[in-house]
Amino acid sequence: METILSLNKLHKKFGSIHAVNDLSFDIQKGNVYGILGPNGSGKSTTLGIILNVVNKSSGSFSWFDGKLSTHEALKKVGAIIERPNFYPYMTATQNLELVCRIKEISFDKIDEKLKEVNLYERRNSKFKTYSLGMKQRLAIASALLNNPEILILDEPTNGLDPQGIHEIRSIIKNIAANGTTILLASHLLDEVEKVCTHVVVIRNGIKLYSGRVDEITSSFGVIELSTTSSNKE
Ligand code: ADP
Ligand code: MG
Repeated sequence: METILSLNKLHKKFGSIHAVNDLSFDIQKGNVYGILGPNGSGKSTTLGIILNVVNKSSGSFSWFDGKLSTHEALKKVGAIIERPNFYPYMTATQNLELVCRIKEISFDKIDEKLKEVNLYERRNSKFKTYSLGMKQRLAIASALLNNPEILILDEPTNGLDPQGIHEIRSIIKNIAANGTTILLASHLLDEVEKVCTHVVVIRNGIKLYSGRVDEITSSFGVIELSTTSSNKE
């Protein structure tokens, strides 16, 4: 089985805070991984490190069994780690065309990706008319334009209403069913239970559990996730 990403004792300190504390786990092709932990547990920092936007303090990570440099590997990664940000007065299609120009990829996949996120019918509407859920779905379409091996999402349903949450989750499941590996960060146990096959539970940057989602008991999740404590030295 191909290893897409491997973390080995990854560590990040912000001053005296150990945001990520000797974190190790592997991501295998074809699975859906959740990084689950309460706010401040180090999820976004972990994603930032592997995406080269945050510098690690120590430890290591490698993409695709170390066969590719991080720079090359990231061309095979689709990631949404910020609020969706597109041009408000341009349509969805026009915004994706711009993304294709910037990434120097063809326009071929635009319609297919808009269909995948249920926005094809609204492709000619201006971005500013979109709901938050639609904006998030457009961001997913944008991240899929180069057919990534892995899609990385940071709290993809934050701020959405129940209908929007349901839509995003089912789209993520469809993307996974089509063979794309997924890594998503969430503070919601039920999100991980509904969407993911595997989970890495972290608190204060420390791994508490990793394994198959169907093997964590709900009591474990409730007890561990409701407990918060300081991750200072
Ligand atoms: P999560 O995404 O799980 O909510 P974060 O990775 O954002 O957690 O944060 C982990 C810890 O690192 C928190 O204590 C947070 O305050 C701290 N932190 C994150 N980014 C910075 C930063 N740029 N400077 C200082 N501290 C930070
Ligand atoms: Mg976060």
